[in-house]
Amino acid sequence: MQKVIQVNNQKLKQMAHYYSQFSSKKVPTGALFSINSGSATVTGYYSGKVMFQGKTASAEAAKWQSNSIHSLDTPKKMGTTLPADFANWSVLGSDEVGAGAYFGPLTTAAVYVSQENLEWVRALGIADSKTLTDDRMKKIAPQIIAKLPHHVVNLMPEKYNQLQPLHNVNQMKAISHNFALGKVLDKIFPITPQAILIDQFAQQSTYFNYLKNAKQQRIIHENVYFTTKGEQYHLSVAAASILARVVELDAMSKLSVEAGIKLPIGAGREVDTVAAELLRRGIDLKHYAKLHFANTKKAERLL
Ligand code: MN
Repeated sequence: MQKVIQVNNQKLKQMAHYYSQFSSKKVPTGALFSINSGSATVTGYYSGKVMFQGKTASAEAAKWQSNSIHSLDTPKKMGTTLPADFANWSVLGSDEVGAGAYFGPLTTAAVYVSQENLEWVRALGIADSKTLTDDRMKKIAPQIIAKLPHHVVNLMPEKYNQLQPLHNVNQMKAISHNFALGKVLDKIFPITPQAILIDQFAQQSTYFNYLKNAKQQRIIHENVYFTTKGEQYHLSVAAASILARVVELDAMSKLSVEAGIKLPIGAGREVDTVAAELLRRGIDLKHYAKLHFANTKKAERLL
């Protein structure tokens, strides 16, 4: 199913913002964004043309055609509204990295920061976790590991490639978050956090549908909150983000040693060149890379 609508510049920007929560696809020439919501592909062009494709194309397009645009779940409203003083609560936070990188794992971490430990974590200087260098994070992660209850799910490429045809990336994220959160809850039992904060990558209802469809035995849903930029709302998410990143970097180093060539992060041109070099050496990419990315085809073409 396909549906095309025309919007003005302001609405196009609004849409780009709204859809930024979904996994982005390769943006075609002339387009501002292209995403996959799980049931529809949405591509917004600078011309104001927006194309919807897939099962829910019509319903998705209808959201933007009606005049009741403000009743739509905007990103601000999409996340659960966090209670006042949330930053000072005892919170179990989770975040993942690697979903947009061709080489390496999809890594998800959950970290519990109790009220008593908030000061200690604050002193690590991680509030602005997105601005920290890799080296800085590598120094901080061992301290987080030593002090705070945590769990990391590190989905290496080989396993990822097995799951990927059946589960979309957001479903793999949901399963990983749910699993990591459950592990930490077990570790800290009988203490329960005041709240769980998941750095948001899908709508709340979609997140829980992913878990239901994957027939997860135990679904963590009590006191679960979702927000994008979660690291700004609680240090537990900042700590989880750092931990996930450092585990990802570590996996990248090990894979690089195995491959005998430095595997770059991301999904850019350099990645294609290195992937083509691996192919030239007769190395099977499935051990190193997320095969469904367009980079695989590009590397084959380069070869
Ligand atoms: Mn995140």
